[in-house]
Amino acid sequence: MTREAKIIYPWSCHVSELEKSFESSQLLGLNLEQVIRALEIHGKNSLKTEKKIGHFTIFLRQFRNPMVYLLFSATLAALILGEKLDAIAILIILILNSVIGYFQEAKASAALAALKKLSVPSARVIREGSVRVIPSENVVPGDVLQLEAGDYVTADARVIEAFQLTADEALLTGESLPVKKTDNIIERDAILGDRKNMLHAGSAISSGSGKAIVTATGMKTEIGQIAELLEETDLKKTPLQIRLNILSNKLIMLGGVVIILVIILRYLEGGSWFGILMSAISLAVAAIPEGLPTVVTLALTLSIRRMTKRHVIVRNLSAVETLGSTDVICTDKTGTLTTGAMSVREMFLLDIGKTKHFYDAMVLCNNASIDNGGSGDPTERALLDFVNKENFPIKALQSRYPRVHEWSFESDRKRMSVAVQDEKGVKIITKGAPEGMVELCHLSEVEKKNIKEKIIELTSKGQRLLAFAEKRGEVIPEVEKVEVDLEFLGLIAMSDPPKTETIEAIKKCKSAGIKIVMITGDHPVTAKAIAMELGIAVKGSFDKVLTGQDVEGMSEEDLKLKVHTTAVYARVSPLHKLRIVNAFQATGMVVAMTGDGVNDAPALKKAQIGVAMGKSGTEVARQASSMIITDDNFSTIVSAVEEGRAIYGNIKRTIQYLLSTNLAELLIVFGASILSLPVPFTPIGLLWINLVTDGLPSLALASEPLDKHFLKESRKPSPTTFFEGRFLIELFFVGILMTVLSLGLYDYMLETSTKERACTYTFTFLVYMSLGRSFSCRSETRSFFQLKINYYHLASVMLPILLQFSIDHTELYQKLFKVGELTFHENALLLFLSFFPVLILELLKFRSGSKGEEEKIPNQ
Ligand code: ATP
Repeated sequence: MTREAKIIYPWSCHVSELEKSFESSQLLGLNLEQVIRALEIHGKNSLKTEKKIGHFTIFLRQFRNPMVYLLFSATLAALILGEKLDAIAILIILILNSVIGYFQEAKASAALAALKKLSVPSARVIREGSVRVIPSENVVPGDVLQLEAGDYVTADARVIEAFQLTADEALLTGESLPVKKTDNIIERDAILGDRKNMLHAGSAISSGSGKAIVTATGMKTEIGQIAELLEETDLKKTPLQIRLNILSNKLIMLGGVVIILVIILRYLEGGSWFGILMSAISLAVAAIPEGLPTVVTLALTLSIRRMTKRHVIVRNLSAVETLGSTDVICTDKTGTLTTGAMSVREMFLLDIGKTKHFYDAMVLCNNASIDNGGSGDPTERALLDFVNKENFPIKALQSRYPRVHEWSFESDRKRMSVAVQDEKGVKIITKGAPEGMVELCHLSEVEKKNIKEKIIELTSKGQRLLAFAEKRGEVIPEVEKVEVDLEFLGLIAMSDPPKTETIEAIKKCKSAGIKIVMITGDHPVTAKAIAMELGIAVKGSFDKVLTGQDVEGMSEEDLKLKVHTTAVYARVSPLHKLRIVNAFQATGMVVAMTGDGVNDAPALKKAQIGVAMGKSGTEVARQASSMIITDDNFSTIVSAVEEGRAIYGNIKRTIQYLLSTNLAELLIVFGASILSLPVPFTPIGLLWINLVTDGLPSLALASEPLDKHFLKESRKPSPTTFFEGRFLIELFFVGILMTVLSLGLYDYMLETSTKERACTYTFTFLVYMSLGRSFSCRSETRSFFQLKINYYHLASVMLPILLQFSIDHTELYQKLFKVGELTFHENALLLFLSFFPVLILELLKFRSGSKGEEEKIPNQ
């Protein structure tokens, strides 16, 4: 067995040599036992571009942040100054923080890894004589790949069979045009670009179909050799994460300035070095929102998981952020807005005498099957179902007239042709969109007029049309020479009813200010009828239909103007989709665009949210998109947008929560210095406040569940103005309010009681006030009295409160935080008072009704 041996020049040997070498066969492929052995020898078919990050590394990574450096210096300072208890406490809190950070990060990366698995590409291989769809990582040398337009080539392979097979190898060779592939032997010293009988991992099939035997997998493929050059793009930091990093750095700098000021102030007052150092460290602790980046990542990954449950696979984190800002959804019709369960409704024959030919054409120019529940294109299945119901002998016909060639369906041409062998020679059969077909057939003017009238009659009922034609001919590779001089046979009209849930989803979008546009390859009249039925097109205001041809004839400027009133784009080719995306984007809109074909990839990439269809889509479309809809359903896109908005809001409010409490801590310590009061908290006290108040409530806020009417009530977020407007006003308002209340209480207590009691009161008050603050961060527009109880959130607040109530009597607690004892009543009174700021905020929300921060973008 030579499975280990790699054929060095697979392009220059005969296919049988490869079959022999891999103990495989073109017809049967490998068997299961061979596959298991090959997997053991060659490993998985994947590129090891990513270094696997171990748990220990994740743990160690928690120590790599400015907060930790600072705390280490505090520990050291405390040790030098003989404050052993302080040093130990800071260390314990530091480790606790890192442990929490570790779990959060480990959870986030596990979620991401699981997600990546969901969107792994698949491959079609022949194994044990039948075609199987397997994850591409399980492809082994010797496997026989079956390929068609839109597939990704997942391993290096030698072509065995090629029908108009072309591949896009830009990634590997830089060649931007698709390369025609053959099954001929190529000379041994041909360079990579000239090995026309080889397919390479990382390239995509642009057109045609074929078979190929795998010669190398994983790192042994050509792309594997240059894998280090490849960059993993989908796990890059999202714009929000980048902005947060910048914000964190700014806060650290601001904290730095305040620290210097405080040091100067305290020094001028003649404070002890230990005191000065401790207040500086306290300030630094207060200023750094250490939990911010992890909470955001976790919130994003949690939402991605929620989306998976709603049939959405998100391929990059950035998409989650942008989703909520979607202004327009450009969606396919067939199968997305409609059920895709087609059935033939009407038939129009030009010549009754040709009925048998017409039925033959429906069966022979067809790639679907109705065996075992059916497979293949729904349009073609509907044709087979129809002839089957009429007891037409499908199988017998297929074996009597074997196919000798196929000119595959292309959405640009909107038709397909086949050549079959019959008693008299080769017969060409073509089927496709009727307007185009009419022009290719011999027809008298009267016949043309009749057919065109029939087309209008059938399409205005919202039916989908196919025309059939035939001729005697020969097999010529160039399709344009084949699809001419045809004899028109007739028309088939089929219905494809809209999905009922779509109407609801469309209403929901409209009420949330999201425009919906139908982009379809179907006839304009059919498309408009369905758009009207679904409520996408609205008579008088938003009912224009543009065809691909119209789009072609328009300048960028014209198209930019037209997109505002156009509800339907019909008979479009994938190229037009790109122009439509560009036009929307030029008007400043955030575009979500669906696509499934190989030619849709540029538009999917260009749109801020490329949406690929999981069921019907090609691998190329999937890989070009930022999310995949696994049920090919329009309403799923809408739920994704809804999730996107929800998560954006959740993140925003969590950040508001974390920052406003941090700001209050910073201002209290700073304010005390300005007022020449002693620092009310020890650094450990502040760390404790951060630990108990930030950790749990922020997680609960980040995963706040969606309200039923969320999409309707929420406003489109504007990602560019995340930290502006009311966000900053609220932040400073709350920060200052909490500071004034705390300092007021502190000052009052200092005057009426001891310093220790003043510190105890202020410390406890701040803990409760910070926890209470989280209630007003649950929603931007609704007060928490109006919201359903979120038990996670309630528990995340109650737990720290109970903890506080139960441990504040212990000696260790009092020693660590330099506080005294509080009676139950005092504790309860402080708890009661601490809800004062929340009350003000909630009343303000109540008053301003549902006027939020983000601008409401007018709907179509
Ligand atoms: P959408 O773009 O919304 O999914 P669609 O399925 O109608 O709509 P295409 O698949 O590009 O878009 O089809 C465009 C036209 O091509 C159809 O209206 C039909 O006339 C014709 N057509 C569709 N499928 C086939 C096929 N398998 N063979 C021949 N012609 C077809």
